[in-house]
Amino acid sequence: MNAKVLVVEDEEPLALLLRYNLESEGFAVDVVQNGEEAQLAVEEGQPDLIVLDWMLPGISGLEVCRQLRSGRGTRNIPIIMLTARGEETDRVRGLATGADDYMVKPFSVPELMARIKAIMRRASPERLADKLSVAEIVLDRSAHRVVRNGREVRLGPTEYRLLEFLMQSPGRVFSRAQLLDSVWGRDIYVDERTVDVHVGRLRKAITRGREQDPIRTVRGAGYSIDDALAMA
Ligand code: CA
Repeated sequence: MNAKVLVVEDEEPLALLLRYNLESEGFAVDVVQNGEEAQLAVEEGQPDLIVLDWMLPGISGLEVCRQLRSGRGTRNIPIIMLTARGEETDRVRGLATGADDYMVKPFSVPELMARIKAIMRRASPERLADKLSVAEIVLDRSAHRVVRNGREVRLGPTEYRLLEFLMQSPGRVFSRAQLLDSVWGRDIYVDERTVDVHVGRLRKAITRGREQDPIRTVRGAGYSIDDALAMA
């Protein structure tokens, strides 16, 4: 599951440029053009970072930033503000409002990418790590490979994404609906029982029917992957 960046920018060429560059870096990207759409996008799916233009039609970027910072579920989302040259005092206001960083337009795209990655590494290192490791399982994102105790585990694409998603938050229980949204995507209609089918396949591949099963079924709640293997 790639880290998700929400770009809030009404200048279309710049928005396209950012989308292109972020996608080349492996991020999932959502682009919206104003503050209202940004609020909806955040409600629908929590981004890992927001690139937020200051001057937007309607609600300003500053106001969007303020609202995100005062929302309980949104106050920790990293924000990089984009400001126009000459808004020196605004910059200071922007940081005071709680943005994590800012870039003055026109800016260098590679520099913005570097800052995004730096902030993301601090805020959610597991989203950028090349290798995730839980229990005896190592998932190597760059090689797209899963190994358990030195043995390669062969997984279908859905099982791989499911495992990757669970491994990003060991011990945390995800409902079937959350797994559907995050692994399958909210645009696809799939029955919640599909999740059970794929978890079943994933388990089979990981355990070969005889090794310990790190995936925990929580009745009435969902699934998690556990750091400490339960004693069989
Ligand atoms: Ca603008």
